[in-house]
Amino acid sequence: MLRLNGITKPLLWFYSPQMFTFARHVDAAAVVYDCMDELANFKFAPAGLKELEAALMARADLVLTGGSSLFEARKHLHDNIHLFPSGVELDHFQTVRDGLQPAPDMASLPGKKLGFYGVIDERIDLALLQHLARMRPDWSIIMVGPLAKIGHEDLPKAANLHFVGPRPYAELPSCLAAWDVALMPFAINEATRFISPTKTPEYLAAGLPVVSTPIVDVVATYGDTDSVQIATTHDAFVAACDTALRMDTKALLPLVDQKLAAMSWDETFRRIAGLVNAAIESGARKIYTPSLRRTRSSGPYDYLVVGAGFAGSVLAERLAAGSGKRILICDRRPHIGGNAYDHPDAAGILVHKYGPHIFHTNSDEIVAYLSRFTAWRPYEHRVLACVGQQQLPMPINRTTLNKLYGLDLSSDEQTEQFLRSRAEPIDPIESSRDVVISQVGSELYRTFFEGYTRKQWGMDPSELDKAVTARVPTRFNTDDRYFLDRFQAMPLHGYTAMFENMLDHANIELALGVDFKEVQAQNLAPQTIYTGPIDEYFDHRFGALPYRSLRFQHETLEQRRFQPVAVVNYPAPDVPYTRITEYKHLTGQVHPQTSISYEFPQADGDPYYPIPRPENAALYKRYEALAREHPDVHFVGRLGTYRYYNMDQVVGQALATYRRMVTAPGPRMHATVSA
Ligand code: FAD
Ligand code: UDP
Repeated sequence: MLRLNGITKPLLWFYSPQMFTFARHVDAAAVVYDCMDELANFKFAPAGLKELEAALMARADLVLTGGSSLFEARKHLHDNIHLFPSGVELDHFQTVRDGLQPAPDMASLPGKKLGFYGVIDERIDLALLQHLARMRPDWSIIMVGPLAKIGHEDLPKAANLHFVGPRPYAELPSCLAAWDVALMPFAINEATRFISPTKTPEYLAAGLPVVSTPIVDVVATYGDTDSVQIATTHDAFVAACDTALRMDTKALLPLVDQKLAAMSWDETFRRIAGLVNAAIESGARKIYTPSLRRTRSSGPYDYLVVGAGFAGSVLAERLAAGSGKRILICDRRPHIGGNAYDHPDAAGILVHKYGPHIFHTNSDEIVAYLSRFTAWRPYEHRVLACVGQQQLPMPINRTTLNKLYGLDLSSDEQTEQFLRSRAEPIDPIESSRDVVISQVGSELYRTFFEGYTRKQWGMDPSELDKAVTARVPTRFNTDDRYFLDRFQAMPLHGYTAMFENMLDHANIELALGVDFKEVQAQNLAPQTIYTGPIDEYFDHRFGALPYRSLRFQHETLEQRRFQPVAVVNYPAPDVPYTRITEYKHLTGQVHPQTSISYEFPQADGDPYYPIPRPENAALYKRYEALAREHPDVHFVGRLGTYRYYNMDQVVGQALATYRRMVTAPGPRMHATVSA
């Protein structure tokens, strides 16, 4: 079939491991396993399905799971596995709320109408339907959908129980428009343990109350809304239908809509498309190995760029490609990329030498610029904080509070109220301690911030600028992403590969393992761009600017997965490290082992963090003033301008510096159109 159609290297997409038997030999661009059900638990499941699934998982570049129970059961079995619960086409189903005409055959049935649509097989509790029909003879119970694996003779019979056969998707809203309550009369058995019925959000989008048996994923997702009544016994199910019929459904819609807002198929499509593209482009297993180049020529150069991190590399690229300048870029480290440098470790797992770097930004300009040098893998960062025996979402959100205190806060308002009752107002807010205590009070401050910050910075939060802990703001909702930026992704082949592309220009020469001090006296270029520590450039003339350093302990473990998310923080004062990172979460790399790193903060060592404190800012100002007396040296970057900047901010700063250089009426600077 593939040969006849001239298809080479197709994308293989499996909904069932069964099909793997006849397609496993195909040379594929990528293999996706889209796990929608625990098929092995279904009636008449073929033997060996579990083994086949294991083989498919071993081959797959990407695994998608259609519900949280399916995901939980598999998350340790694959590295690039993702949860995509059912989406809902809101426009289609919300027409019911706007007064859509009900299906006439159903509207003409007597009494209250309670309906279900979906496949009718061993997953439906037929005895429950019989009970419901008998207990409420004046209601009409309508079952829409094809029969599978059971025959008409197996169905319960009652005058008010109507098995009406399947209806096309386009007609489902008109069915819903005829009903008063939507049903999920599932049997609780092996076959339903892992289901995540798509019909739940569809029923809700139509504005109907739902009555369900206790399906695990339904309880987990909707158990907290009255719109979905959960009933464990047959009698309770009848009573729940009574309740649903009495309910003021309209009043419940705002909460329902809040849940549905996150479930659009468009958003699901966008995220899956990104993951599939990433799987195809990277082949998932291919790892980029950096090739180090040293300079061969000896100039002449227009610019000496000191530091091959984001600041230095962006400026080198812009000046070379944008303005035709000749650049020598030196770095005292033996590699490019600065602190964002990544490389395959001894096991072949891509790790970040200097701790986890997650790219996030709200700037379209910065994304567009970097996208010239890299494709992206969608990645949303999540962090858990280890508190006692628990791992809790960080930043603090509703889930954190519910788990920590055994609470049942179910809305943003309740959460806000809870935190307001604990917050201790401070005016004016000056330090990193003030920011947190004024939002969440002393107890949560001590649990999540005090120990971590003392370890990380070697000082009490009361001594640090408020901007430091303000980076991690509290949430009232259940959003557990660490960053909220519009764009969150990782360079598909890693940071180093992106830097290689950036610096791959005939006008750029690299001198790695070369300190500025070694070449300074040679006056290799009339202009210097300096991205190292500004105080070091001036031989610490006004005293040393304080920096915080880290020691990284890298390890490779003989297991596929170590922790549930990429980063787990350890705020406890008696644990010597601040956090553990597991890199495969960031990259989606498929590998039987896993690599992690511990971070131990320390005073001495490479300068990683400028320390935001008023007196340090004042000292920096003196260096900045001194720098103005050296118009042929441009100080840029986290160390060059002593700012606690993220990568995107450094890119933005470098691009702005370039723009200023191009427009400045200085000598010999003409912008050329960049590729
Ligand atoms: P650097 O990357 O530090 O590059 C400066 C380069 O200059 C270095 O390679 C250095 O060797 C070289 N150099 C210095 N002095 C000399 C000299 N005298 N001669 C020659 N070379 C010299 N940002 C994010 O956006 N997301 C994150 O998740 C994130 N996580 C981080 C985690 C850690 C542990 C750290 C330390 C930082 C993190 N950052 C993160 C910040 C990010 O690393 C910086 O914003 C970015 O790397 C700064 O780029 P830069 O070019 O200014 O500096
Ligand atoms: N912080 C904390 N507990 C945490 C996470 C962060 O106290 O679990 C504080 C700490 O002072 C940290 C600061 O918030 O240095 C900023 O955290 P962020 O994750 O933004 O720091 P990064 O490592 O990215 O520089």
